[in-house]
Amino acid sequence: MNAPLPAEVLKQHLIDPEICIRCNTCEETCPVDAITHDSNNYVVDPDICNGCMACVPPCPTGSIDNWRLVVRAEAYSVQDQLGWEELPGEKSLPADVEQAPEPVEAGNAQPSQAAASPASAMAAGAAVPPWSAAHPYVNLYTHKTPITATVVGNYRVTGADTESDIHHIVLDFGELPFPVLEGQSIGILPPGTDAQGRPHHARQYSLASPRDGERAGYNNLSLTVKRVTQDHGGAAAHGVCSNYLCDLARNDTVQVIGPFGHTFLMPNHPRANLIMICTGTGSAPMRAMTERSRRLIGSGDIGKLMLFFGARTERELPYFGPLMKLPRDFIDINLALSREAGQPKRYVQDLIRERAVQVRELLADRNTCIYVCGLKGMEVGVLEALREVMMQAGEDWSILHDVLRREGRLHFETY
Ligand code: NAP
Repeated sequence: MNAPLPAEVLKQHLIDPEICIRCNTCEETCPVDAITHDSNNYVVDPDICNGCMACVPPCPTGSIDNWRLVVRAEAYSVQDQLGWEELPGEKSLPADVEQAPEPVEAGNAQPSQAAASPASAMAAGAAVPPWSAAHPYVNLYTHKTPITATVVGNYRVTGADTESDIHHIVLDFGELPFPVLEGQSIGILPPGTDAQGRPHHARQYSLASPRDGERAGYNNLSLTVKRVTQDHGGAAAHGVCSNYLCDLARNDTVQVIGPFGHTFLMPNHPRANLIMICTGTGSAPMRAMTERSRRLIGSGDIGKLMLFFGARTERELPYFGPLMKLPRDFIDINLALSREAGQPKRYVQDLIRERAVQVRELLADRNTCIYVCGLKGMEVGVLEALREVMMQAGEDWSILHDVLRREGRLHFETY
């Protein structure tokens, strides 16, 4: 009689629902579409995931990096995971499998092999920060232990007669520590419950202020928030968190979690150059990096700053007035306006092509880092423009692209 086969053990990939901020980065990154979500959770399908690890470095919170040893036949299903409020504890395995040499990862691939697979290597941006970036703190405050901030400023930064109601919101943390770096983001917990009666999940916003505060030396930070009144298809929709934030008054309090993000960070070494490419509220991290650099002007340590900023019109471009007051020898500003009356429609990628010579000069310098933030749709257009700019000079973008990724010098944050 044959002995029964030992049960196969799976190192199952799971996402911690208590830390996840539902930013969709993992689902977008997964090369095999193993990650899915509903209104409650982001989850990993154990039948599809091959443990390639492509989703792990881009996750801003680390909630993606959770693993449980399970008997494969008893793996947590997608349906199980969608209902979770927290991760289950470790299970003890049956005696006949406990001594198994190496459990297989979710799917069958070993992480080291799969991480080098063509699919994961295709990610457009770097999975590491620039070499000189300062050390970021992440997840100091979570859904279970949020920090309370007080609103000390809330004003509109777009023309009052336009559809784009974008607010600059300043939050103060008083005596409580909330260390941040430019390029990081925070989560806001809107009050109330969703359609299922559960507390709303956190919504993520990039910092618009530098590490030493919206006002230098103060324990505060700022956000750039657009009031959402329509969905992507143009149908009427009420953004839960954006409307909550845009309606806040001075002295109101807000529940905050974070900070998040460990790769979209600015270089910290002298004379590093920044190419910043953004649309709309994607300008938040660019404002933070620009302001950090502006505060360092006296030190003589700052490199070149080149900004490509897209908006419908001047009046819908957040921070237009203050931006125009910055000295031209400090920052090279290029505005791409898509709906300005009497002007041709222009996107940031059009301006990158127009400024090809200067862009190439900066790209030739190993001290240059590139940041892209804003609408998802511009990602492809920006990459194509950079490819053309290099090609015009007979250079191979794909080689430079690999170097920029490897050296943490090209970063995307698009939604
Ligand atoms: P928007 O007003 O809808 O668009 C800004 C500009 O981008 C417009 O001129 C628009 O032109 C143009 N545009 C549209 N498609 C483009 C493409 N494929 N390539 C280049 N330009 C394109 O922008 P928004 O509503 O402020 O959205 C900004 C995005 O940033 C949102 O997706 C938001 O989630 C994201 N974001 C926000 C934060 C934050 O902290 N608030 C942080 C990171 C990212 P048209 O005239 O064609 O529309």
